[in-house]
Amino acid sequence: MSKHPAVEAVRGFHADLTGIRRDIHAHPEPGFEENRTAQIVAERLESFGIEVHRGIAKTGLVGVLHGRGGPNGRTIGLRADMDCLRMTEANTFAHRSTYHGLMHGCGHDGHTTMLLGAARYLAATRRFEGTAYFIFQPAEEGPGGGAVMIEEGLFERFPAERIFGLHNWPELPPGKIAIVDGPAMAACDEFRIAIKGRGGHAAKPHHLKDPVLIAAHLITALQSVVSRNVHPLDSAVVSIAQVDTSGSTAFNVIPERVGMLGTARTFRPGTRDTVEERIKRLAHSIAEAFDAEAEVQYARGYPATVNDTAQAAFATDVARKVFGSDNVLTDVFPTMGGEDFAYMLEKRPGAYCWLGQGDGGAGRMLHTARYDFNDEVLPLGAGFLAALVEEALPVAK
Ligand SMILES: [Zn+2]
Ligand SMILES: [Zn+2]
Repeated sequence: MSKHPAVEAVRGFHADLTGIRRDIHAHPEPGFEENRTAQIVAERLESFGIEVHRGIAKTGLVGVLHGRGGPNGRTIGLRADMDCLRMTEANTFAHRSTYHGLMHGCGHDGHTTMLLGAARYLAATRRFEGTAYFIFQPAEEGPGGGAVMIEEGLFERFPAERIFGLHNWPELPPGKIAIVDGPAMAACDEFRIAIKGRGGHAAKPHHLKDPVLIAAHLITALQSVVSRNVHPLDSAVVSIAQVDTSGSTAFNVIPERVGMLGTARTFRPGTRDTVEERIKRLAHSIAEAFDAEAEVQYARGYPATVNDTAQAAFATDVARKVFGSDNVLTDVFPTMGGEDFAYMLEKRPGAYCWLGQGDGGAGRMLHTARYDFNDEVLPLGAGFLAALVEEALPVAK
């Protein structure tokens, strides 16, 4: 159990935070529709005496808090995401979603609440000198509210020198935190391939250009991208998630066309280019080899989330004080999932940290219908965020 003063202080209003978290959980809002959530955040920040700027990327907002002595040019940004997922909750507890088909299945209700907790503590204590920006962003789950906030002048209006984000992590138990140096999460791209052949009677294949067979060859060949085109010590994923042969549903009719939908995940920009180029080339070349045609649409999504070496070291240092040295992990694998905090880390040095919350083994992994944020870790997360501000902007002795 952390004895850090910031965590201890937040424990003093743990019940209030739990109430906020559960209220947001019961009223989940999807990307760019976080109106109720943003209203709660704005009201709370104002009640702490924090200056609030609304309407950045539609529902996004930023709280500005100066420490002792007012602004001095030193700044830090803390970011939370507010949106939910378009999925149906299977939980039956009292604070389950009251909105059909919407669920806080990724714990952004908890992230929003922890940042509010940090803001409340920092506004009350102001044991820092400089300016803290509390950034509440919309649409992390898509299409990328963080990028829109940046386009709308986030860092010009609120010039954070460095930036930190926190995501709950069911794979780690409560009381632990993980921070990696370098890539933390992957660039997420989506591709669609259509193989256009000639369909017809499945018993007369010599009259056809069978797109099902071509698709099978292509799926096999795509496995060579990671194993033969990517450096063995680099990482990438190429997955075909869906194959659509619905042009025919009869056992004896081969369709004209087969569609494929997949994703490519990478960490390095050069690897991303290579993977895109190889997917396109294999699709076109293999289709051509079978006298058919391929159409490829490759859409780049979020870039890789890359922690800055110095800021990851800083956050690790602060985490050791808050969680205790034994509870800070730095040797965990990055994940191939995506995260739109990546856009902020492209503009400002910082780090993205994973807060242990447990429950993974009980079937409450992120994006599952029985997921729930673990309220037990609210003071730890809020205290850690607050400690980042106090340590980054220390009071002059
Ligand atoms: Zn998510
Ligand atoms: Zn998330």
